Amino acid sequence: MNEYDSNRIYDLTSTIGFKKTDIKSEANCFVLNTCHIRKKAAEKVYDEVGRIKKSFRSLKKPLIIIAGCVAQAESEEMIKREPYIDIVIGPQSYHKITDLILSYERKNKKIIETEFDVVKKFDELEKVYNSENKVSSYLTIQEGCDKFCHFCVVPYTRGPEYSRPFKQIINEAEKLVKNGTKEIILLGQNVNAYNSFENGKNYKLSSLIKRINEIQNLKRIRFTTSHPKDMTEDLIECYKICNKLMPFLHLPIQSGSNKILKSMNRKHNKEYYISIIEKLKDINQNIKISSDFIVGYPGELEKDFIETIDLIKKIGFINSYSFIFSPRPGTPASEKKLNNLQISEQRLKKMQDLLESLQYKNNKNYQNKICKVLIENKLNNQEKYFGRTENMTPVILEADECKIGEIIDVEVNSFNKKNLFGLRKLNKERAA
Ligand code: SF4
Repeated sequence: MNEYDSNRIYDLTSTIGFKKTDIKSEANCFVLNTCHIRKKAAEKVYDEVGRIKKSFRSLKKPLIIIAGCVAQAESEEMIKREPYIDIVIGPQSYHKITDLILSYERKNKKIIETEFDVVKKFDELEKVYNSENKVSSYLTIQEGCDKFCHFCVVPYTRGPEYSRPFKQIINEAEKLVKNGTKEIILLGQNVNAYNSFENGKNYKLSSLIKRINEIQNLKRIRFTTSHPKDMTEDLIECYKICNKLMPFLHLPIQSGSNKILKSMNRKHNKEYYISIIEKLKDINQNIKISSDFIVGYPGELEKDFIETIDLIKKIGFINSYSFIFSPRPGTPASEKKLNNLQISEQRLKKMQDLLESLQYKNNKNYQNKICKVLIENKLNNQEKYFGRTENMTPVILEADECKIGEIIDVEVNSFNKKNLFGLRKLNKERAA
């Protein structure tokens, strides 16, 4: 989501003459769009500001803007801790960035803007050209969260659930495709909680997918990140009826222990999660699943951890994110007694070894087979291209010539745990 927001921040600032530069010393403004999901991420922001400060010691001070969830959570504390920062702007107020920059330039006075103004934000963003022209583009459809998992800061930093109007999203999707996008990834903190009432009609994520599926020249649709509770029948049905919806789903479970899921306030249990996967597999055996896991959540015993390991083996996730529990200030879980760090580290290692072996096994299954790859870009100075399979697996392939944005057949001849490697299969090219 930060990638989407960063691009929109650029679009906004370009209306007052700002341009991107790769030459750091030439920049007169830095916008750090931040994430607050883990403590380390917040500390990285201060480290980065420190590095900018150091490299500009003998140069004119650039304007320093901190955007995103760290800005929302730490607000004026940021300027107190690091006075080199000039503007702090939360994720639901970044549509005001140009006004804030101009105001700062006029008054030379530090600014903090952390209002939850999400409706206004998307109305304002709609007026500004979306310059995104990547083959695979993100499109935010929903923000915020009402679930309040006990470990998570999102409901506090992004605010309550908000769904953008259906027509606004379709317009943006059509513009992206006109700009050259071939794959749209619908985004939301709780993307499948999308729910918009307009003119007496109720639009859900399934309504959006069905409508976006009709856009000519668009080849692939994905969505992330979903909550198991909102994997409704109509959404599952989309995997059957929408040919552009890719057979891959990132569906975080966090733990395989019902006791821990309850303590996390996840509002689903392991059995329910498994039933969703079974329904998806009934539609398409080849659908692949990835997930998120928190290791060492307060109260996690060895038997809870083993239940998680068993679940991972049962589902066979193809890639997943796993972290040791990181207490975030202000969340209920941050008040609980921490687990022994050494034990958590051992468990994380065990889990990551298992997840990697499953990823390796998945990639091995592609060996000597042909898969459909959407070409996203050419690798620098090489006759090699980068793309992804329908299941999101990265592919590096050799070909004399490929068009960025086309879907081609690739014969996989080797692999490692992260990537597949192969050659374009010209004689077996299929219509994309
Ligand atoms: S559903 Fe996701 S975003 Fe919402 S509180 Fe839970 S982890 Fe955070």
